[in-house]
Amino acid sequence: MSQKTILVTGSSRGIGKAIALRLAREGYDMVVHCRNRLTEAADVCNEITQMGRQCRVLSFDLADRSAALLSLEADMQTHGAYYGVVCNAGISRDNAFPAMSPDDWDQVLRCNLDGFYNVLNPVVMPMVQRRKPGRIVTLSSVSGLMGNRGQVNYSAAKAGIIGASKALAIELAKRKITVNCVAPGLIETDMLEGLPVEEIVATIPARRLGTPDEVAALVAFLMSEDAAYITRQVISVNGGLC
Ligand code: NDP
Repeated sequence: MSQKTILVTGSSRGIGKAIALRLAREGYDMVVHCRNRLTEAADVCNEITQMGRQCRVLSFDLADRSAALLSLEADMQTHGAYYGVVCNAGISRDNAFPAMSPDDWDQVLRCNLDGFYNVLNPVVMPMVQRRKPGRIVTLSSVSGLMGNRGQVNYSAAKAGIIGASKALAIELAKRKITVNCVAPGLIETDMLEGLPVEEIVATIPARRLGTPDEVAALVAFLMSEDAAYITRQVISVNGGLC
């Protein structure tokens, strides 16, 4: 395989970490990204270099447009454009809508939805200029497809990511760059802290939570050459939840 590099946002832990490790095992060089957990990100990076792959760490707040731009431009200037990007990093701040603070709304929209623009806008043109196939995968959620109680902010952001991904897929299709959206159900990560997990599991047809590795396996397929004709799609990994 000619050497291809993939950036995975939010790959210091959870689903993003599983994606970065899986893609490294598939033979890609990796760019691990986090907001501020640099030790965890460095550990992921070390695991990847031990597999014989190149890896480096970027850290910036997805909601900070100029920090994202500076960091991504500097990285691409040194190492070249990416083959693939996984827009994985995200947060939730749940509350019943009447009690949802302006800050809960703003933080979730800025990180999840503005994050799409802040990361992809600087990297897309360099990807096009590689004049080779490329891959973009975004992370939505079952909440973006169905809506979910207590998650008006998160559902809005994740539905927005679906629309944005589909529109970008149309713009990039003839450049051989695919854009697909993965919509996980309930996956065992830090994000589930404080949720009534047992109650939720009872509503999942598979009667269990998903694992980060199960999401990573789908992302790895979407990154592969075999997935060249799959674009503008939303693919769920949710144990039959919807
Ligand atoms: P985690 O909370 O386990 O990890 C979040 C990751 O995103 C961390 O690497 C964190 O960096 C990074 N991050 C968070 N906020 C920012 C920010 N403002 N700027 C930069 N990086 C940030 O999340 P999950 O692994 O559970 O979720 C990954 C994605 O999957 C998210 O988009 C989430 O919405 C989506 N998803 C998750 C589901 C689940 O059940 N877990 C279900 C459906 C969708 P740091 O470590 O430095 O804080």
